[in-house]
Amino acid sequence: MADINKSCVYFLPLYAAGHLIPMVELAKSLLQCKSTSSNSFSIHILLIQPKNLDKAFPICHSYIQSQQAENLQIHFHPLPFVEQPNQFDGFEDFITIYMRLYLPHIKAALSTSPSPISGLIVDMFATDAIDVAKELNIPSYIYFTSTATFLSLLLHLSTPQVKNDKVDFSEVEEICVPNLTPIPSISMPPALLHRKSASYKTLVYHTNRCMEAKGIIINSNVHIETKAVEALAHGSVTQLKPGKIFPEMYPIGPVISFSEYNREAHECLKWLDKQPAKSVVYVSFGSNIAFEVSQVRQIATGLEQSGHRFLWVLRKLGKGFLSGPTDANLEELLAEGYLERTKEIGMVWPSWAPQNKILSHRSIGGFVTHCGWNSILESLWFGVPMIPFPIYAEQHLNAFQLVNVMHVAVSLEFHEKDMGFVTATELERAIKRLMDAGSVEGQRVRDRAEEMKLACRKAVQREGVSYVHLQKLVGELDKL
Ligand code: UDP
Repeated sequence: MADINKSCVYFLPLYAAGHLIPMVELAKSLLQCKSTSSNSFSIHILLIQPKNLDKAFPICHSYIQSQQAENLQIHFHPLPFVEQPNQFDGFEDFITIYMRLYLPHIKAALSTSPSPISGLIVDMFATDAIDVAKELNIPSYIYFTSTATFLSLLLHLSTPQVKNDKVDFSEVEEICVPNLTPIPSISMPPALLHRKSASYKTLVYHTNRCMEAKGIIINSNVHIETKAVEALAHGSVTQLKPGKIFPEMYPIGPVISFSEYNREAHECLKWLDKQPAKSVVYVSFGSNIAFEVSQVRQIATGLEQSGHRFLWVLRKLGKGFLSGPTDANLEELLAEGYLERTKEIGMVWPSWAPQNKILSHRSIGGFVTHCGWNSILESLWFGVPMIPFPIYAEQHLNAFQLVNVMHVAVSLEFHEKDMGFVTATELERAIKRLMDAGSVEGQRVRDRAEEMKLACRKAVQREGVSYVHLQKLVGELDKL
């Protein structure tokens, strides 16, 4: 039961690993920071309830169970079931309509709160909940689970001069966002390439709505994304209508999950224990991505031909919209004899892996990543340099940043004719550039990743740049 003497802070996450986990982890950071301040609030998480929670979303499901078992003083409130929309145009449109259908339930949950509510923190795709917050006189905050650069880009697209421009970004060479390094159009999020697409309109819609919130919380900081975070802090990335105030920015990252879903020593970790220091390339594509056999085979060959040790999380394509990857049958996906031939230098793991434990292992020397923002933050936290292998959403933009702005990664060229395809030869080349002892480029990004690790850890320590923002946010949420 909630303590009725405290005020309440409510969270509204999406039910997806890359959104829900960082939001609950933010809640935990607020609680930790709060214990050092004089007042207090309790935390409540509203959970949307897709069908077959445990089967369709096993990671979110087991993560929530593990959090409940830890008895963290976080109250989870499952909302009533809502049928998913069957008419939509792309993922962004789907999730926006779906979250909109939840608004009556969100309102009912907030209206029956045991204590006054000092803040509603909503996912970047759930900005319509701001209307409910306004109606109930609750200050609302957005948790932007991606980068400050992506937010700056979206804000730029919402300015009148860009809005009135008719040319698609697919037709220009680069996009110049004030204060940022120019972004090649090839690195633009695919959803933003065509102005008339539903995805483009939906993203710009949510960005405009973000401006109505009291604050925007970003899982980043000024050391990770210097120019973008500074520009957001000064509000210089967009033009506001007269009388409007730019929301307060809270760059509080990196917020990372260190929760253990399984406390037994994992097979991957046992294998890593036997490998030399910094000798292994870790290869993983997050919670949503799996490949056709043709791409799997190219990756397999590239890894083998690089001559470096590897730990590869290889999963199988799920069936249908919203169904994530499932555990793989490795014999089916890989060419005959591959596992036997590579068993001295490689491990292929067909299921969910304990990524943070892997990245923190002394034998990991590099990370081939799909560039999900959580994976990137985790890699930075452990000082692991990267090879970006982006697939969708804002991953291409993140990849560009890693290589050209943060300098913590070596680039990977995509097959000219097919942007989403990487050949074995190119993967081999990138791994060698990163991992070979004599590679000057590899040494440069390894050194830079080590610097980032120190900067990230310093940022979240007491008096660090992110900690100061977290404290400020706690101060706001303590006010009623
Ligand atoms: N993850 C993991 N094990 C896996 C795959 C992913 O622990 O086998 C975690 C990873 O550590 C990260 C999250 O799942 O915290 C994926 O989030 P990210 O933003 O990187 O990518 P998304 O899955 O949202 O595309």
